[in-house]
Amino acid sequence: MTTPALPIYLDHAATTPCDPRVVEAMLPYFTTLYGNPGSRNHSFGWDAEHGVDTAREQVAALIGADEKEVVFTSGATESNNIAIRGAALMYEKNPAGSGKPRGHIITCIIEHKAVLDPCKRLQKEGFEVTFLEPPADGIVTADMVKNAMRDDTILVSIMWANNEIGTINQIREIGKLCHERGVVFHTDGTQWVGKMPTNVEADNIDLMSFSGHKIYGPKGVGGLFVRRRKPRIRLTSIVDGGGQERGFRSGTLNVTGIVGLGKACEIAKAQMADDAARLGVLRKHLEDSVTAQLDHCQINGHREKRLPHLTNISFGFVEGESLMMAVKEIACSSGSACTSASLEPSYVLKSIGVGDELAHSSLRLSLGRQTTREQVDYTVNAVVKAVRKLRELSPLYDMHNEGIDLSKVQWAHH
Ligand code: PMP
Repeated sequence: MTTPALPIYLDHAATTPCDPRVVEAMLPYFTTLYGNPGSRNHSFGWDAEHGVDTAREQVAALIGADEKEVVFTSGATESNNIAIRGAALMYEKNPAGSGKPRGHIITCIIEHKAVLDPCKRLQKEGFEVTFLEPPADGIVTADMVKNAMRDDTILVSIMWANNEIGTINQIREIGKLCHERGVVFHTDGTQWVGKMPTNVEADNIDLMSFSGHKIYGPKGVGGLFVRRRKPRIRLTSIVDGGGQERGFRSGTLNVTGIVGLGKACEIAKAQMADDAARLGVLRKHLEDSVTAQLDHCQINGHREKRLPHLTNISFGFVEGESLMMAVKEIACSSGSACTSASLEPSYVLKSIGVGDELAHSSLRLSLGRQTTREQVDYTVNAVVKAVRKLRELSPLYDMHNEGIDLSKVQWAHH
């Protein structure tokens, strides 16, 4: 086996490299076409505006929207905030201070923080929020949403695909339900758009967030789809100023970023199906090879209803941080949020019933356009070797192999 160049990047759900064709499309907008698209009275402004218009068409074509329904933002975090806060404030049933709930929102406990936190803020401000808890497969169904609906439900926000386990929710059915009930439906499409076919009409979506840097575009740019007809969605603006982007997001447009996002969408539209098919085969190869060589591994989330390029595997009898250290040459994510002093296991894995130990010892491996079979084979070998070595040092693994039921062991407490 030839050794691929190290380190190997298998963290495409965190961010992707910028496609060279994207960079090429952006370059002139830094140096020669540098006008402000808001400048209506000279050619510099018109040229910049032309770049933005083209990008708007490219984005709209990818998601089956009208160009006028695309609002450019700084990324999915901002899009989520504009959508959730903007819709809640626009469609509230009772004013603040009336003593009655301002309105009811349905979301899900395994959403990204960029959805959970705006919802929690609204909760503090007098809205009521239901955080749905999906079962072990991680999937949010239309029935779960239906059972949570109330007369005063104003907004449903359910992500399309989960960023940690890749599971795909029943978006089209949830959208249909929301439309029948006259409830605004927002989806965080960050991990889905540009990877899988999206059509905001057929999928019954009112508001959808997405991001450039997850789809081989630049960082710091993204978009929000805002439906204009059947029904026309209105939002209370949370970023006020010059009134750009139909007043939904004031501020001089990030023209270079927007041009890059547009190009990334154009490429995604052409390449998405091939990428998904190829990466699905590689992902299966990765999972099959790891599970054939190691016992006590668990693939988290629904086995079929998930993104083709992502897997989340927990390894029993292995200490999470040691595993990460042992496979340092593989750039991936772990189930431990080790950014803070307290080592909290992933809230997503915990919510779908993965125990603390297994949540800590999980790896999220996300493949991308440049991932090769050699890289996957190298990764499989490295992970298998590391897990075996760590288990050799594990007294728990020894005890387990001797037939001792660890759940019945009386541990001495100090
Ligand atoms: N939502 C999801 C599901 C994500 O995966 C991410 C990025 N990790 C975000 C929102 C935030 O996106 P951005 O970095 O563009 O703000």
